[in-house]
Amino acid sequence: MRILLGILLLFTSCGSSSKEETVQGEYIFRLHDEEFLHIQPLKPKAPPQYPWQTGSQNSLCRITKEYLRCKGSPLNLPRIVKEGDKESARYTDCGGPDKHSLPLKNGKESIYPILLELLNRIQEITKRPVVITSGHRCPDHNTYIDPSPQNSASKHMIGAEVDFYIQGLETHPEVAIKIIQDFYKTDSRYQKQKDYLEFKRFEKLTNSSTAPWYNKEIFIKLFKAHEGRNLDNRHSHPYISLQVRFDKEKNLAVTFSWEQAQQFLRK
Ligand SMILES: [Zn+2]
Repeated sequence: MRILLGILLLFTSCGSSSKEETVQGEYIFRLHDEEFLHIQPLKPKAPPQYPWQTGSQNSLCRITKEYLRCKGSPLNLPRIVKEGDKESARYTDCGGPDKHSLPLKNGKESIYPILLELLNRIQEITKRPVVITSGHRCPDHNTYIDPSPQNSASKHMIGAEVDFYIQGLETHPEVAIKIIQDFYKTDSRYQKQKDYLEFKRFEKLTNSSTAPWYNKEIFIKLFKAHEGRNLDNRHSHPYISLQVRFDKEKNLAVTFSWEQAQQFLRK
């Protein structure tokens, strides 16, 4: 065995020494004006932007009823409310917009058009995207995000309410309120109609510390950064809630009804 190892070592050493003999040296000369290659530091490439992220008016997507579909999801875990150690209530979310439609009016999916008109006007004037945090809420999702009795007659369920903030103007919700009020002053359809042109303040107690603004058609609530939080509004920005009070087309007050809230298709 030792002899075998010895023979192997002999062969290996012979091989390497013969290699060394054949290797030829290569000399590198530097010139006096030679420069090192400058490698630019790597810059991360920005991801491509979606049209609504660019902030340009031309690329702002027009808000349609599609933007107001229910934000429920079957992936959301059940909400369990406990009293002491015992479970007192359990709320499950809806199947999401793939499993149910928007509210139906005359058999068609519908959101009150004035909401879409106002949201688009805000986008046009600010040239910034309006982020809709809560549009239609089916009854299951409405209860899931906020099971309090105060939320049980929310107009979100009938497509007559929307919550939003303006991207890039998150801390300036007053901009949207001014635009809405100006909308009524400048739109010819409301000319000389005092109850649309004049906004009053709602002085009764609500769940926002700021007195809401209202005219005949619309009710505007401003929620500060710590107010009005629910699972649809988990962001940390102030936001605005718009409610429709009056259906100008039908000349009817818009009130919540369970019958209307159930008018949607389950898929
Ligand atoms: Zn839903």
